Amino acid sequence: MAHAVAGKPVYWVSVYRVGDVLVDSGCAWARPHLQKYLSENPVHTVLTTHEHEDHVGNHAVLRDMEVFAPRRAIEILDAGAPRLPLYRWLAWGSHGVAHGVKPLGEAVTANGRRFRVMHTPGHSADHVVFIDDDASAVFTGDAYMGKLRAVRAKEDVPLQMESVRRIAELDLAVLYPAHGPVLERPRAKLIETADHFDALREKALRLAQKGRSPRRIRQDLLGSEPWLTWYSLGAFSAENLVRSLLGTPS
Ligand SMILES: [Zn+2]
Repeated sequence: MAHAVAGKPVYWVSVYRVGDVLVDSGCAWARPHLQKYLSENPVHTVLTTHEHEDHVGNHAVLRDMEVFAPRRAIEILDAGAPRLPLYRWLAWGSHGVAHGVKPLGEAVTANGRRFRVMHTPGHSADHVVFIDDDASAVFTGDAYMGKLRAVRAKEDVPLQMESVRRIAELDLAVLYPAHGPVLERPRAKLIETADHFDALREKALRLAQKGRSPRRIRQDLLGSEPWLTWYSLGAFSAENLVRSLLGTPS
């Protein structure tokens, strides 16, 4: 699903339907697309990877469904949408209120299909992925996002890479991410990504030991900040990534 401005998509997020199960609900701006799709392809169970508004954006309109989510997402959906910073509202929209969302256990079984829940913290503290062992597939939300250069201040990238390595160990046939293309036999790509960030971390730590500031390390290792930093007024940045790698989040 894309949020389009003047007919041009500015932001893509994928949701997945597996039989009568939906994984995540996308961002609120894409609500008409999702509602039309679900009216033609109904689901009865909804699985949620994490609390970010581009993953729970339409939970408020999912009626007569059994909805499961991590603890933080349940809190946020119970409380309703806060006043979002302008960039987040423009990009994703507000998610609204959804009561009655159930906490996740070890697995969710829906219509005979079993989805194993694996805790994959890092991108957010209680992020989970859903493993369909019968199909050798994993639905990863934002646990795997490739070689990103800008992250939010709260993201724990070293911890996220531990999660990425655990997903790699599953050695599954296919990975369905929320952003980016579906990956067939994702193991090698996952390990390569974790290796990339671990190497970056070692370089950042060496520079920090020499007394370089996070800003200077960012300049040396990653260059200038990407457009997303300016658009998000600094909420996403390469300097946040450096600070996360150093274990000194701002
Ligand atoms: Zn996210």
